[in-house]
Amino acid sequence: MTDCLFCKIKDRTVPAEIVFENDELMAFKDIHPKARVHLLLIPKFHLDSLDDILPAHSELLAKLMLAIPEIAKQQQLQGYRTIINTGAQGGQIIFHLHFHILGGGPLPGFH
Ligand code: 5GP
Ligand code: ZN
Repeated sequence: MTDCLFCKIKDRTVPAEIVFENDELMAFKDIHPKARVHLLLIPKFHLDSLDDILPAHSELLAKLMLAIPEIAKQQQLQGYRTIINTGAQGGQIIFHLHFHILGGGPLPGFH
C-alpha cells in the first residue's frame, strides 16, 4: 500500500532501524520506545490488522510467531512481551499488521 507507513519502511522509502529481515518479514525499532527494547515485527505483505487474517495466512502467521523468539534471542532478551493492537479501540494507530516486542528489563505487571 503506497500510503502505508510500514510498507514505506519495508520498501526503505522511510528510514527505520531494522534489526531483522528475511524474504517475508521485517523487524525494526519503534520510534517511541515503551521499554528499553521495543521492536515492531511486520509481514512485508500488507494486512491492515488481525481482522484481515484468513486461513490462507496461516503459514505467514506461523512464520511471524516463530520469528519472535528468534529476534528475542538475537537481541539477548531474557524475557519479553508481545502485543498486537487491533482496531482503533484496541489502540491500533498504524494499520499494517504488527507485533510489538518489548523487553530489555523488567516490565510492569499486566493483569
Ligand atoms: P499501534 O498503536 O498501531 O499498535 O503501534 C504503532 C507503533 O508504531 C507505535 O508504538 C509508534 O510509536 C510506532 N511508530 C509510529 N510511527 C513510526 C515511525 O515512523 N517509525 C517507527 N519506527 N515507528 C513508528
Ligand atoms: Zn502496509
